[in-house]
Formats: sequence, C-alpha cells, structure tokens
Amino acid sequence: MYEVLVIGGGSAGYVAGSVLARKGIKTAVVEKGKFGGTCVNSGCVPSIFLFDSSFMLSRWKEIGDYKGMNVDVEMNDCTFSKRDEIVSYLSSAGKSLVENAGAQVYLGEARIKSRGMAEVNGKTIEFKRLIVASGSSPISYPGVITEDEAVNLRYVPRDMVVVGGGYAGVEIAQIFARLGSSVTLVTRHRILNGFSERARDYVIQSLDFDGVEVKEFHEVRKMENNEVVTDKGILKGEVVVSAIGRKPTLPEGLTMNYNVRVNDKGIVVKKNMMTDDHDVFAIGDVVDKPNKTAHSAMYEAIVASQTITGAQMEVRYECIPKVIYSDPQVGIVGSPDNAVKVVEFPFNAVTRATISGLREGMVRLGLDEKNEVVYGEVIGKNAEELINTLTLAVKYRANAFDLATTVFVHPSLSEAISNASKSIFDLDVDRFK
Ligand SMILES: Cc1cc2nc3c(=O)[nH]c(=O)nc-3n(C[C@H](O)[C@H](O)[C@H](O)COP(=O)(O)OP(=O)(O)OC[C@H]3O[C@@H](n4cnc5c(N)ncnc54)[C@H](O)[C@@H]3O)c2cc1C
Repeated sequence: MYEVLVIGGGSAGYVAGSVLARKGIKTAVVEKGKFGGTCVNSGCVPSIFLFDSSFMLSRWKEIGDYKGMNVDVEMNDCTFSKRDEIVSYLSSAGKSLVENAGAQVYLGEARIKSRGMAEVNGKTIEFKRLIVASGSSPISYPGVITEDEAVNLRYVPRDMVVVGGGYAGVEIAQIFARLGSSVTLVTRHRILNGFSERARDYVIQSLDFDGVEVKEFHEVRKMENNEVVTDKGILKGEVVVSAIGRKPTLPEGLTMNYNVRVNDKGIVVKKNMMTDDHDVFAIGDVVDKPNKTAHSAMYEAIVASQTITGAQMEVRYECIPKVIYSDPQVGIVGSPDNAVKVVEFPFNAVTRATISGLREGMVRLGLDEKNEVVYGEVIGKNAEELINTLTLAVKYRANAFDLATTVFVHPSLSEAISNASKSIFDLDVDRFK
C-alpha cells in the first residue's frame, strides 16, 4: 500500500513524487505518456528551443549591424533534431529524478476503481492519499494542429494561420514568422489580454516588424482542414494552429469515487492544494487557477507535498510571475490594481543595454501608498531573468527605498530595476538620454 499515489509525471507530478519519496513517504507515480508532460514534450522546452533559434537568427543579424560585424546565419534541418534530442534527454531526466528519489514508477493510464484503489495496465495499486497531476489537453479540430503539435513541427510551413492571441499563440506566430513562414494571427479579442498597454504595444510592433499579420476582434466561427472561418472572412494556410485554450484532463473514476469539485477550468482546491476531499490533492494545469505555468505547477507540488507531511503552506498566486517568450519578452508579477502609482525606467537609459544593443523596453514598478512594490513588469530581451528580482520584491513587499539603496552591478541590465526605484527619490544618475 502506497502512502501517496501521484497521477501524472509532468512538471507537477514528477516534483511531487520525488519530493515525497525523498522525505521517506512511500510514493508511486503513474504516467500514461512521456515523463515531463506538456512542458518537456510539447510546451516550454520545444517552444523555447525554437524561440532561441528564431531569436538568434534575427539577433545575430541585428547585433552584427550594431557591433559593426559581418554575420551570416541560417537555419538548417538539424534545428529540429537538436530540439528532439533535448526533449528526450529532459524527459528521461524527469523519470530518473523520481526513481532516484525512491518512488515507484508505473507506465500506463491510471483509472480509479474505488477509494484507495487504482488500476494501471491491469495491475491494482492501493494507496491512502491521491495527488491528481494529470494536466490539461489542447482543444483540437479536424485538419487543424494544436499548439502542442505546432512546437513539434519538423519543418517550416510556407504559411500559417494561428488562432488565439494568448501567450502560446503569440509565441508560435513570432517563432515561425522568424523561421520563414508567412503568418497570420487571428484573435477574438485583443492579443495578450490582461497585459499592460505598454507591453501589448511593444509586442504588436515587433510582430508587425516580423511580418505577422495580426487580426484582432475576429470572431472565429469554424476551424477545419487548414481553413478558418471568421465573421470577417475566410483565412487559409498550409498549416492552421489552434491555440485557443486547454481543458483539464481528469483521471477516469475520480469524481465517481471522491468528493472532488470540478468546473470547466479544472479541479477546485484550497490554498494548500487540497480538494474538498481531504484524501485528494490536485496540482498543476488540472486545477482551476489563474496561473497555468510549469513553475506554478512545480510550486504547487511542493505545497501539496509539504501539507501531506504535516507542514503548513499556501500558494500565493500573486507572487508567481508569468513570462511571454516573445521578442521583446514580457514578464509580469503581482497586480497593477493594487498599485497607487507606477514608475518606469527605460532600457535606453541603462549603460549595459546601450553597450549590448538591448535598448528596447523598460522596467515598470507598481507601488502602494507606502512605496512597497506590489507589481513588477519587465519588457525587454531579458525579461525572463529580470522578472525574478521583481518577484522577490513583490513577495517580500520590498520598499522602493530599499531597492533604490541596494547596490546592483554596473554595467548590468538589472540597473533598470534599481534606477526605477531611484527615480522616485531623485537618486538616478543613468538617465543620460
Ligand atoms: C506551447 C506551450 C508552451 C508553454 N510554455 C511554457 C513556458 O514557457 N513556461 C511555463 O511555465 N509554462 C509553459 N507552458 C505551460 C506548461 O507546459 C504547463 O503549465 C505545465 O506543463 C503543466 O504541468 P502539469 O504537470 O500540470 O501537466 P502536464 O505537463 O500536462 O502533465 C500531466 C501528465 O499527466 C499524464 N496523465 C494524464 N492523465 C493520466 C492518467 N489517467 N494516468 C497516467 N498519467 C496521466 C499526462 O500524460 C501528462 O504527462 C506551455 C504550454 C504550451 C502548450
């Protein structure tokens, strides 16, 4: 009998499985597909690999001009095999992590037969508590590829229509435009709904520069066989990508045997990831929550594991950052609604950015009435790194004066963060433009 059965070996499941096993809890992890789940096999990893490739293609040309060098780069078919190599390495690394921690791995689909009993490939597994980490699946249409399939394409289509203006749609559109496709991005609302106007403006400008045709406020009526019918006309592409959202994947027998509440966004949980049934926890994309990312899934895995071992921990979604891997990247953390003022510092006034030709974008800080940081936003090429400093600031409610008087390395892009805070107290000196 296992103390804990984890269903799913994705970002959420493999972290929960290995953390619990390392703490001496008898744990089993069941995975029906590939270890590493969406992030490793059809999400973050292949998509960031291609993002890097497409980024380098344009960045080398840009930096060559900026630094006065002749640079000539082009992509070849090895890009796709390299991507596949890295995906497969990270997938097996995820499985080894769980096994080396001492958890038992079962390969196959877990079906819950009764309370405390599941079946995998005809084998019965008994357990006391359950962690549901079964993730989500893309919504599919006939003759249309999903976002997961798009980042695993093995060629660059001549033309592509991407439906969906969220982060996945924007990233896929820009990647393939830079790799050579002629791309149209269609969305029902505006792209990147929920992000600041500033961020949206930068991203739209950049998509435009890359030749992506952005069609906002197009109501999609039908997607089928490489064709998208909207209220404003028909769009065709060699490939049509659906990036319009995902639905939670529930293990068979879950709701029949446990008192778990589910809505269309996923399983309802408390702040410690426990469901309405105290024997069941749910973590990752299968949960009804505001932040469906791999890093939030891994954090929820730690919170659930800690709770199972008796510690008290809660997830604070307002302290979990989000990043769009567009170029420029956009990173946000916290909520601008809690800010009474927002201060900005542009990269074009930061020495390091000028040296390296990274002058596009800015850091924005949202402060409350006590000058405590409640919101952070970075627009620029290194947002994925810089946003982590702002995450610490938001989590610990850093005071802008503390940030302004913390010494940051010179020259570095992070100086945009200290300079944004310094500007409030008239202490910034880098503003030389
Ligand atoms: C194109 C794309 C790009 C993305 N980029 C990023 C990014 O840059 N950064 C980021 O943080 N997030 C990114 N994400 C989101 C991220 O991939 C997900 O948030 C994350 O993978 C969720 O992890 P999870 O463990 O909850 O679910 P999953 O990774 O989906 O894992 C669930 C696992 O459970 C298994 N499973 C399901 N049911 C059963 C069952 N009954 N029995 C056994 N096994 C089962 C599935 O096979 C799967 O492997 C991206 C997603 C996509 C699609």
